[in-house]
Amino acid sequence: MRKIISVVFGLGLAVSFASPTFPVDYEQARAEMVKTQISSRGVKSERVLKAMRDVPRHLFVPPEYRNLAYADGPLSIGHSQTISQPYIVAFMTEAADLKPTDKVLEIGTGSGYQTAVLSELVDKVYSIEILEPLAKSAEERLHRLGCKNAVVKCGDGYKGWPEYAPYDAIMVTAAPEDIPTALVNQLKDGGVMIVPVGSYYQHLYKVTKKSGMIHKEILLPVRFVPMVRGVDLDIR
Ligand code: SAH
Repeated sequence: MRKIISVVFGLGLAVSFASPTFPVDYEQARAEMVKTQISSRGVKSERVLKAMRDVPRHLFVPPEYRNLAYADGPLSIGHSQTISQPYIVAFMTEAADLKPTDKVLEIGTGSGYQTAVLSELVDKVYSIEILEPLAKSAEERLHRLGCKNAVVKCGDGYKGWPEYAPYDAIMVTAAPEDIPTALVNQLKDGGVMIVPVGSYYQHLYKVTKKSGMIHKEILLPVRFVPMVRGVDLDIR
């Protein structure tokens, strides 16, 4: 009997947690997320912590996952893609050493969440998404939320966005097997690229360019969706 009660209770909790009508104080959930998942794991930049507290992550996830938006993990955004774990977004953003005057290129717009976090911290964000429906919905979402300094285009991130190069920072949120040469070429001297590299086993790299020389540092083992090639999707 006790077992039945606990199963029923457990189911009730699961249903109410997943239900979009369950009342959640999103601002409080966000503050809690920053405290327990991000600063507790060592992210120190006040600017990054503030951006993570300010961007309404629940508006970047599908409505059925809204109440899980501040949980400690990635979530599906459809099209077999994910919005990254909040800690990883904060960690990568801090690692990029961003300044308010920076021009940033992002590869893999997805939901547009990382784009929005970046846009709080820099002057201008250019973001490329290879899947048309995601590029379109992220662009609309960012516009709706009043994000005025970010632009999204549908295209192949392996080529970068040469029209606006060079960039102070490049943030790659899908994993290529090797660091893409075009992106290195579009990085400003003194610039930083944060990129997960590998197929099954991946590492997050911090790539810096100084006096034309490239320096690579491994930061963390990670797991990102693969960075696909435009030719595989017939996007050129
Ligand atoms: N930064 C995103 C996470 C996106 S997941 C967020 O905050 O929600 C990675 C995204 O990279 C996916 O949307 C995927 O479609 C996209 N992607 C994969 N290969 C790509 C490529 N070659 N160029 C641009 N985007 C790519």
